[in-house]
Amino acid sequence: MKLAKRVSTLTPSTTLEITAKAKELKDAGHDVIGLGAGEPDFNTPEHILDAAKKAMDEGLTKYTPSGGLPALKKEIISKLEKDQKLSYKPSEVIVCTGAKHALYTLFQVILDKEDEVIIPTPYWVSYPEQVKLAEGVPVYVEGKEENQFKITPSQLKAAITSKTKALILNSPSNPTGMIYSKQELQELGQVCLDHDVLIVSDEIYEKLLYDGNEHVSIAQLSPELKNMTIIINGVSKSHSMTGWRIGYAVGNASIISAMTNLASHSTSNPTSIAQYATIAAYSGSQEDVEVMRQAFEERLNIIFEKLNQIPGFHCIKPQGAFYLFPNASEAATMAGFDDVDGLVKALLEEEKVALVPGSGFGADNYVRLSYATSLDQLEKAIERIARYMEKVT
Ligand code: PLP
Repeated sequence: MKLAKRVSTLTPSTTLEITAKAKELKDAGHDVIGLGAGEPDFNTPEHILDAAKKAMDEGLTKYTPSGGLPALKKEIISKLEKDQKLSYKPSEVIVCTGAKHALYTLFQVILDKEDEVIIPTPYWVSYPEQVKLAEGVPVYVEGKEENQFKITPSQLKAAITSKTKALILNSPSNPTGMIYSKQELQELGQVCLDHDVLIVSDEIYEKLLYDGNEHVSIAQLSPELKNMTIIINGVSKSHSMTGWRIGYAVGNASIISAMTNLASHSTSNPTSIAQYATIAAYSGSQEDVEVMRQAFEERLNIIFEKLNQIPGFHCIKPQGAFYLFPNASEAATMAGFDDVDGLVKALLEEEKVALVPGSGFGADNYVRLSYATSLDQLEKAIERIARYMEKVT
């Protein structure tokens, strides 16, 4: 069967691929340590599970409005009011089947053929594919390591053309864990306002910040920036709810309305019981969110030091999310490989440690390690990587 052209260059998500490969080895009896996962290793908090069970018991298992339950939209609006001092109407909110689906739907409704979307590198793996699926063109701008993997206003300005439709900002970032400061956001935002470029602000790691850093949304910085920004967020990472598939987009009412129309013909609505669970996630205590954040910060502080001691691995300290993104090109050369992909493959085959190669994030010299796994496993993984480097050098 001849497939449609639009999927001919579509590649599977590198992160899901490596997770699947690690699982395969594990199922075959190998003691694999998977550091590829993009999800918290904690169970969903109890009161959220209870709300879902209650919804099932009460028969709340039917279709909901396509854009999400009004009661959930209300909670999302309260959350944005409380956390970001931003005020939105229900017509400016859509609940989707995860933040990933919110982004997918957004690109479908804003992009025409050959419209350009500026994607800073290193990027989250799905951005380019989603832009291409909407017939858009990803335009990459390099976030250099010496600038903490962030792009500058002059780089942004240089990348803008008459076809530029949007800029994607992901702060805190997957895979680098870096965050843009208020001033950096202000400056990048000004360039977008000057050139009429929509800002897609993916804030899914908002609650995972370390060293006392606080989240700033670019939409908070002025009414003009609020009008020019679509915020993407969800409960996957903050409330350890990856499998529930609830995310959302917030912003310009006509964009949200088009997204809601599209969703009505694609998913109909996000799962009803997951929406009730999310109402509980936002209306209930946020204590678990903080407990998980603290656990991530403790792990980060321990393994960051250890990783940097391994010959050939050089890492700058992330400020958020749950990933380390070391430059491993020297380690690859020391181990006799032409590229980091070769090193990643060898570490999986010989030491049974699964890392994600940076190539999937548009940064070939790097690897991504997720610390969303127990400290015990993390320390063991670091020992295995160190042992491997000792063996091959
Ligand atoms: N955006 C970024 C940067 C992510 O890392 C992820 C998940 O890995 C998502 C969006 C999607 O999250 P969700 O589970 O809500 O679809």
